[in-house]
Amino acid sequence: MQALTYQGATNVAVKEVDNPKVEQATDAVVRVTSAAICGSDLHMYDGRTEVETGKVLGHEIMGVIQEVGDGVKQLKPGDRVVLPFNIACGDCYNCVRGFTNACLTMNPQMAGAAYGYAGMGPYNGGQAGFVRVPFADFNALKLPGEAGDELERDFLMLADIFPTAWHACELADVQMGSSVAIYGAGPVGLLSIMSARLRGAAEIYCVDMIPTRLDKAREMGAIPINFKEGKPSEQIAALRHQSPLAEALRPGEEKRLEGVDCGIDAIGYQAHDFSDPQHEETQEVLEDLAAVILPTGHAGIIGVYMNDDPGGANEDLKQGIFKIPFGTFWAKGITIGTGQAPVKRYDEMLRDLIIGGQCRPGTIITHEAALEDAPEYYRRFDNREEGMIKVILHP
Ligand code: ZN
Ligand code: ZN
Repeated sequence: MQALTYQGATNVAVKEVDNPKVEQATDAVVRVTSAAICGSDLHMYDGRTEVETGKVLGHEIMGVIQEVGDGVKQLKPGDRVVLPFNIACGDCYNCVRGFTNACLTMNPQMAGAAYGYAGMGPYNGGQAGFVRVPFADFNALKLPGEAGDELERDFLMLADIFPTAWHACELADVQMGSSVAIYGAGPVGLLSIMSARLRGAAEIYCVDMIPTRLDKAREMGAIPINFKEGKPSEQIAALRHQSPLAEALRPGEEKRLEGVDCGIDAIGYQAHDFSDPQHEETQEVLEDLAAVILPTGHAGIIGVYMNDDPGGANEDLKQGIFKIPFGTFWAKGITIGTGQAPVKRYDEMLRDLIIGGQCRPGTIITHEAALEDAPEYYRRFDNREEGMIKVILHP
């Protein structure tokens, strides 16, 4: 089969590789119909991880069951499925508590496994014709309809981006009536807007610098904030002070207008410098979150921070040591939530919302391409090409 493989920094190639097989009785092999390129794939593409050469990339995968082992009881060839990017056993201490993002048994290196990702176990990804799914009954979510139908793009978002955005809102404690600031109008940021609206947020701000992304954020129901025009926390406070809410507050409560209840970092460690966007500035988003989140608020840090970054600008950053205004977080009593989403916890609920017609997460997809064109799309996506928000590939 054809597969997109990592060949070194800024070098990926579509190569002919062996088809995956059923190796354990509980495995399935899925014929991939759609696989997305993720912003987090670019950390590997940029040479900012220790991913091994030759690895098949891609952790956002859907398709049709091709073959199952004897131990697979709930799925059969022909079933349409999407794969939560976390590979989990379903039985360990963390899995039974719902933390499939920290499965203890699937990755010899650390807790948590995934398809086609640096440090996440020996599993190949799904930017390929076929992919092997361990413990398929647990790790595949069944879907209605036919491959390539009108919900294909929406269902593909269940592999990572939509549940990840939902998890960001969980970490940030977005509730009915919450005010929310989301940093990043990439796929996770945009679907965080969608998730926050589904959860009943009253006011949503979304920070980015790329006009087409900010337009999309506005279209999805957020107030766009361009960080090139000044510190986001200050812009948000100024807008809050002008809001009709100001008239409704008791004396003293105007302090609520200084920021928001919930802050989401949907950018991660490769953030642009606010005042000099050509440069990377890893800590600025965390500093601004500390400024914008109100006392007793919550921060959801869903953007990726690596603990091992060969491209880090200094010795601390190479080891994932970030300078954050911890005193501010503490003084405000802000709760900080971090880490990968336990996709399975939310995936059936989000699937049912899509089936019920309550949301169309696939509307963030801007480009579709054939697998053989993947290297070109990695390059263009990595260059943050204007208008390119989410790319999906069809093997
Ligand atoms: Zn992803
Ligand atoms: Zn487990």
